[in-house]
Amino acid sequence: MDDKVNDIRKLADTYMFQTYARIPLTLVRGEGCRLWDDQGKEYLDFVSGIAVCALGHSSPVVREALERQSQTLVHVSNLYYTKPQTELAKLLVENSFADRVFFCNSGAEANEAAIKLVRRFSKEKYGSGRHVIISMTGSFHGRTMAALSATGQEKIQKGYDPLVQTFKFVPFGDLSSLEKAIDDTVCAVMLEPIQGEGGIVCPSPDYLKGVKEICDARNLVLIFDEVQVGMGRTGKLFAYEHYGVTPHVMTLAKALGNGLPIGAMLSTEELSSAFGPGSHASTFGGTPLVTAVAKAVLKSLLEDGWIENCRQMGEYFREKLEDLNKKHSMIKGVRGLGLILGIELDRPGTPIMDACRKKGILINCIQENILRFVPPLIVGKKEIDLMVAALDETLSEMKGRLE
Ligand SMILES: *Cc1c(COP(=O)(O)O)cnc(C)c1O
Repeated sequence: MDDKVNDIRKLADTYMFQTYARIPLTLVRGEGCRLWDDQGKEYLDFVSGIAVCALGHSSPVVREALERQSQTLVHVSNLYYTKPQTELAKLLVENSFADRVFFCNSGAEANEAAIKLVRRFSKEKYGSGRHVIISMTGSFHGRTMAALSATGQEKIQKGYDPLVQTFKFVPFGDLSSLEKAIDDTVCAVMLEPIQGEGGIVCPSPDYLKGVKEICDARNLVLIFDEVQVGMGRTGKLFAYEHYGVTPHVMTLAKALGNGLPIGAMLSTEELSSAFGPGSHASTFGGTPLVTAVAKAVLKSLLEDGWIENCRQMGEYFREKLEDLNKKHSMIKGVRGLGLILGIELDRPGTPIMDACRKKGILINCIQENILRFVPPLIVGKKEIDLMVAALDETLSEMKGRLE
């Protein structure tokens, strides 16, 4: 058995690009908040495919929609109309600020579409020369050339220069730097309402309102990347709802398909006019299979109480993390909103992540010293209690070992 297991890892390391520093774990099955490896060991999953599987693994909602749609129509070209993508677009529009939706396959592609849209919109409206997009340091917008050029992290951009020009960076949370960076070449501001990969960085409550006011005063397009924090993750369907601010453009992906690859770029009617026939496209974008699943997922989020569950469990979880914060000096702070929560450590988090995994808990470590918790939104108190107990125990053991 062991040899076979190692075989898979050896084969993966032989035949695939080594783009991932993989954790030595081969997962074979999932159900709800639980995963099993090829040894039959059970894990509580507080990673969820990185904020993807909001309804958990093997969700009956997903399985039913997949089965139903796969028996009728999996794929046709966007040269034709189809029902599932139309219904999903309608549902997204009815539940957001937006008037129109463009479907693609990932978060990076959604951001790519947003970048192209504002470029084109700006050119049509103001002529050439107004093409700079202001982005934030510490941001993450994906791995395509334009998306990584918009990403305010050196390690993501390293080795790829020359980058797509005309992204300008200002510190996240700092309104006066933003104002100073604006000149006649700027057309848009792009940001995550809460920075996910950057370390679960929440701005002060008035920041987004301030950004919107600046954008309005200077006629700039405001783009929110809600790829990670959208679709109920923060305890509201979209994170912007917490701040009393709406963007002009928003991007979604991760939890939208609960594991099926789908991204979406949404905008107001005014912006959408810049994309006419032939200006942008995707072969797979919004294919009947994935949109049928995404529609079922969105309906379940809206109708089955999971966003309310996220709010309640998020509060419960946060209190428990605050208790750990009081107890363990190596925790420097608790951050996040709803069920995107993190703790900042005074040391690298990987040994803690590894120790938790041995206890059957999957968590994730970002920016070296931040532990990120993004469980399925269907998580209950029992799972949170188990997770927090394992973390508590791990932190106590670490303290004994390292101090
Ligand atoms: C994950 C993520 C992306 C990139 O999504 P992909 O589907 O990996 O291309 C973009 N923006 C944010 C905020 C993300 O968290």
